[in-house]
Amino acid sequence: MNDSSVDERGYRLRAAALLRSAANDLKRDDEAAAADLGITAAEFASYAGGGAEIPAEVLRRAAAVWPVNESDLMPWRDDCPDGAVVHRLTDAIASARVLRRGGIAYYEYRDTAMSRVASFRPEWIRMLSVVDDDDPAHPGVRWNRGHLLYQFTYFVGPVNYYVREPEGDRVLRMNTGDSVWGVPFSPHTFTCREEGADAHILALTYGAELVGDAQRELAALGSGTAASFVRRPEEPASAAILRDFLDGCALPADRFAGLAGIPEDRVADLLTGDVPPTAEELARMAKALRVSPRDLLPVVSDMAGSIRHCRAGEARQWSYPSPGPAAYRIRELAGSSLHPHTRALEILPVTGSADVALRTYQHQYVYNVGAAPADLRWSFDGRSFEDRLEPGDSAYFKPFASVAFAAASSAGCRLLSLRIGGRVTPESRTALGSMAPGGLPRFLRETGRWY
Ligand code: FE
Repeated sequence: MNDSSVDERGYRLRAAALLRSAANDLKRDDEAAAADLGITAAEFASYAGGGAEIPAEVLRRAAAVWPVNESDLMPWRDDCPDGAVVHRLTDAIASARVLRRGGIAYYEYRDTAMSRVASFRPEWIRMLSVVDDDDPAHPGVRWNRGHLLYQFTYFVGPVNYYVREPEGDRVLRMNTGDSVWGVPFSPHTFTCREEGADAHILALTYGAELVGDAQRELAALGSGTAASFVRRPEEPASAAILRDFLDGCALPADRFAGLAGIPEDRVADLLTGDVPPTAEELARMAKALRVSPRDLLPVVSDMAGSIRHCRAGEARQWSYPSPGPAAYRIRELAGSSLHPHTRALEILPVTGSADVALRTYQHQYVYNVGAAPADLRWSFDGRSFEDRLEPGDSAYFKPFASVAFAAASSAGCRLLSLRIGGRVTPESRTALGSMAPGGLPRFLRETGRWY
């Protein structure tokens, strides 16, 4: 992992801004904050101005005497100021290690592109256990316990994929180009079906909205409270959402019925979840509750158990852009309506086409799964860059980086792209857009007192 590229000065300035923000939120001027922290006002001004690094003791003291956590005062490190991290096959091979399960060598793992600013934890994994049937109870099949991170898996070669569901164990015989998306904590495992075959996967795990603050908040609130927050996609979600809003404004159902102009017995039915609201009822309820209709809409699940899979031959595909000369063939891989901001694509640059940049709001991971190199041109923050992804190379791109991929030879090339949302949710984006003018720079780096 690279430490040298971590931006020390930027880190110090972001840390300073967090300290200033914490003091601002608690209505402390420099003298009052310094007195709380047991330092001089001049020292506080220097730490909160970015002039000097904040000593760990000061952060500990702040977390002891103020209602903040150490993590609230610690910024992220930006290890890709150019908008991208390119990871070479040689570095992947250098990171190779064999992990054993139940006494046998089971997987060879290799790291691929990762960044501190994104939750991707993507691994190239070779299956070392070879089976001669599709029985999940085969002695060569060694299960894991499932893990926190979401997992998108891209298959290369004759790989058996096993997943443990409450109804029993499932086996999917996978081949090159097949893919699976799965939810956290479902036990799963992989084997090779053919002695001597190249059987590996790209196991692209990521935390998205689950890791970081949401996990820390729920862990601190307690297990009972965390259980109360659970919303199962298969339950009558529109009723649960409505119940939350009524509880949230301490509004009795009969009074709500009056405000919405909906008969009381109909509201009672809506609250049981036996019937969904009509479009007109949805609009009336949203108006009565002073929310947007979307706030009352449930998530629709398309999951079959804990996974969704897509066979290579069944993937939807299209040309991009269109109309006009195509620069890419795009193939859509496995994904789920549970995770609308995750998209897995195969991107096939059309040989000889002009550069067309692709740009997305998501964090993007790219792996060259083909046999030929791809030229990369990207622009980020007003600057332009070039590089090349050889087969087995991978890259990470920050959101809104414009990236053009081109086949470096007439052989064509094939790129796997996984795009995910980060902690900046649609709600965060609306909040950014609702700030008073001039708010955004101060949100990112508050430099002075607000009063
Ligand atoms: Fe996994």
